[in-house]
Amino acid sequence: MRQHLPPNATGSGGDSPDFQTLLWFGGGFVQGLGDPRSIIEPATGQVIAMVNDASMGQALEAIAAAKAAQPAWAAFAPIERARLMREVSRLIRRDAEHLAELVVREQGKPIKEARGEIAGAAEFIDYFAEFARRLPGEILPSDHAGEQIWVRRAPVGVVAAIIPWNYPAALICRKVAPALITGNAVVVKPHEMTPLSGLAMARLFAEAGLPSGLVNIISGAGEVVGEVLTSSPDVNLVTMTGSVPVGRRIMANAAENLTTVSLELGGKAAFIVMSDADLDLAVQSAVTSRFMNCGQTCICNERTLVQRPIYDAFVEKFVAATQALKVGDPLSPDTDIGPKVSEEECAKVADMVKNALSNGARAVIGGGKPDNPPTEHGFWFDPTVLVDMAPDADIMRNEIFGPVVPIIPFDTFDDAVAIANEGSFGLSSYIFTRDFQTIMEAIDRIEVGEVYVNRAGPESVHGFHGGWQDSGVAGDDGVHGLEVYMRKKTVYVNYSGKTTVDLMPY
Ligand code: NAD
Repeated sequence: MRQHLPPNATGSGGDSPDFQTLLWFGGGFVQGLGDPRSIIEPATGQVIAMVNDASMGQALEAIAAAKAAQPAWAAFAPIERARLMREVSRLIRRDAEHLAELVVREQGKPIKEARGEIAGAAEFIDYFAEFARRLPGEILPSDHAGEQIWVRRAPVGVVAAIIPWNYPAALICRKVAPALITGNAVVVKPHEMTPLSGLAMARLFAEAGLPSGLVNIISGAGEVVGEVLTSSPDVNLVTMTGSVPVGRRIMANAAENLTTVSLELGGKAAFIVMSDADLDLAVQSAVTSRFMNCGQTCICNERTLVQRPIYDAFVEKFVAATQALKVGDPLSPDTDIGPKVSEEECAKVADMVKNALSNGARAVIGGGKPDNPPTEHGFWFDPTVLVDMAPDADIMRNEIFGPVVPIIPFDTFDDAVAIANEGSFGLSSYIFTRDFQTIMEAIDRIEVGEVYVNRAGPESVHGFHGGWQDSGVAGDDGVHGLEVYMRKKTVYVNYSGKTTVDLMPY
């Protein structure tokens, strides 16, 4: 494990060769005027940079800059927008290793996953740039001869993009790319714990030559900067990824101005394994789906349900596969599991596990902080497998978001569906079986926005990622994710040459 940090590690509140810490709005790189914030490396618990939050006034300036830049951008031919977007993705790929290291340093995921995240960030931009020649519109026949009805798409205007800490780089591009191709301007707020990769990407947006004020990236607390962005009448769409309580708060703020919201919220995916499943595939997928990003992914396997005849064999193989994972320095290429993102998030997981254990659960492996952690002050939690819980235990219902998995047996497929549908989340689910009818019934009956059949995640850029129930409103990705960035304008065109038109033909 690394012992030393770069010489500027304590940060100065200004930019440094290692970390971009200035905010980017109105086309300029600016020191935040809000409170200074320590950016803490999860693997070491040390401060690696200081980033000043934006002040409320700066947040308003960023919105004003976006509003001023948007009309000219909307007037660009979409192919011109795409050209600039592709320049951004080229620069992201050029600086991929640096950006991946930033993600590791601020967020803690293993470097091999961070490289995937940065590749995904560039891919979001390229994918949405492809819509330059495919932005939709419809021409409908009118009820009158010599007339047509056009349904055109127009940009919404100014988009506020509120980002969580678990994929701090990719989720920015997931929202900025569809916003830009459809002619919108954006103000991005990364999570205040993880602004460094976003601010580094701001340099690349600027280098690509995006018009001044079109994209703005400002850091700051949700309760301050986030509140300004979600309460402003000059913001036309709030697209947010994060937790359910914050999603509710944002929707309430947006309601004041009747602003559209798109919310990607939490999940509690059930990972169902039927007794006829390919056991090794199911185990491998269940392990990947739980431990990627240290369990901090919204579609993670949050509760594994295994049909009773194969339960013991599954648990045994799952434990062996988990014990084979390497927990350690996230910058090391062979690390599988890094630290949790913060002390507070680590404590939340510890509390949930403690509560489960005191209510009858048993930890087959793990159960708390490691006895010999990879570093003294990092935010480590042992990969943990819990058994013997009741299906309605708290840990079976609430999002864990850490390297902990409860595994319970079930008897019939109906029992598994009933457990999967318990609780208020509805983001994703997994089904492992070789039986086609069971697959189709699972797809029909599990109340979620995304089902994975005999495979682990993650989702694809051209799918649609949107939760049901408390897991979200609207959604991201693909043609359906693009729609929320566009308003519709319907045009009734009379070219009949008639001097009188009967408007009510019915
Ligand atoms: P969070 O809700 O705490 O924060 C998300 C963002 O909202 C941050 O930028 C935060 O500063 C901001 N925010 C907080 N209060 C605000 C307010 N009052 N007004 C405006 N903005 C405010 O979530 P998190 O802890 O960063 O992320 C973890 C959560 O995100 C988990 O629940 C996870 O499931 C969810 N998530 C969902 C998806 C998905 O696609 N459905 C993807 C990733 C993460």
